[in-house]
Amino acid sequence: MARVNIPSFTLNDGTKIPALGYGTWLGMDAKEDAGPSKPFSFEFSAEGMPQMMEALSYAIDIGYRHIDTAHLYRVEPEVGKIIDKKIKDGVVKREDLFVTTKVWHHFHREADVEVSVRGSLRRLNLDYVDLVLMHWPMSISQDGVDEKIDYLETWRGFESVLSKGLAKSIGVSNFNVEQMKRLLANCKVPPSTNQVEINLNLGQKELVDYCQANNVVVVAYSPFGTMVPSRSAPNSPEPKLNNPTMIAIGKKYGKSVTQVTLRYLYQRGIVSIPKTVTPSRVVENASIFDFELDKGDMETIAKFDNGFRTVRPFFWQDYQNYPFEKIPDKMEIPESLRIWKNGLNLDID
Ligand code: NDP
Repeated sequence: MARVNIPSFTLNDGTKIPALGYGTWLGMDAKEDAGPSKPFSFEFSAEGMPQMMEALSYAIDIGYRHIDTAHLYRVEPEVGKIIDKKIKDGVVKREDLFVTTKVWHHFHREADVEVSVRGSLRRLNLDYVDLVLMHWPMSISQDGVDEKIDYLETWRGFESVLSKGLAKSIGVSNFNVEQMKRLLANCKVPPSTNQVEINLNLGQKELVDYCQANNVVVVAYSPFGTMVPSRSAPNSPEPKLNNPTMIAIGKKYGKSVTQVTLRYLYQRGIVSIPKTVTPSRVVENASIFDFELDKGDMETIAKFDNGFRTVRPFFWQDYQNYPFEKIPDKMEIPESLRIWKNGLNLDID
């Protein structure tokens, strides 16, 4: 069986985080004809669940130790089942794994953070998570009401779950530079990580520099951006998988374009959490620690940065603390991102 050897970065609380993790977000599908007043709706993708469980199981077998999940993803019970099996089968011990989950923006009151984390622990069947993140800085109720809860209040709830041992580390996600500055200036425990979109089109140089200068490890979600066919959109920029410059760099090191991409992020000191349900890609994505891009190639790849966002949830853009620049488009929040009852796993509360 293939084996991968994934190095770690050290967080500001001394915890080690593996530099590459397994992402578990199965995404959403646009469904047409959702009803007379709804031309289409977004529903959680359930189809990939069995393959994801197999791919995650395989990932742990070959040496992945870092798993990225979230309450939102509605896969915590399945992720927990795989972890349980791998521990029972003697493949890993609990302390070998680094499990991240996230608190959704329905749970931003200080006391609700613990409710959310305890729910995640119950679904994951774990006593603690290694890292829990505030998924977004906004606070929005299931009815779509802007609750305008200051993320500094929410952060106090994170400090509390840390002190109770429910999580070994605490961090944030989707925080912009100003929000990071304000949080760092007003917290007792600084966030250990900021998980944000980073890929070749969205380098986030200012945010990464600020976080790294302040001892906050940056974790890249959607590390392939729109490079991969499943994420490609009509207006999405280069590089794609067949980009000649990227192919040439890959050839030089005997690596694929996706491997060059993940290696580039690693050399910037960034953790990546690519998602794949394809076993060969599970191996491919983690086989990036045996070569080094030279300075010239790092500079060439950096030139693809043009600020293009793959994840742009503009339906939240009028809510307080939305972290990204606003665009003219308008759309209602998809119901499946607001109302969770009777979700994919039925037990999601
Ligand atoms: P990714 O950049 O990981 O892209 C996933 C897509 O890339 C899938 O279609 C996958 O296909 C394909 N793919 C994976 N590896 C390869 C490869 N080697 N060659 C070709 N195609 C490949 O995007 P995600 O948005 O899923 O982000 C990764 C993770 O980040 C998520 O799973 C989640 O854990 C986290 N995340 C966090 C967010 C946040 O707000 N904090 C937001 C979004 C994601 P296939 O599966 O068919 O192999």
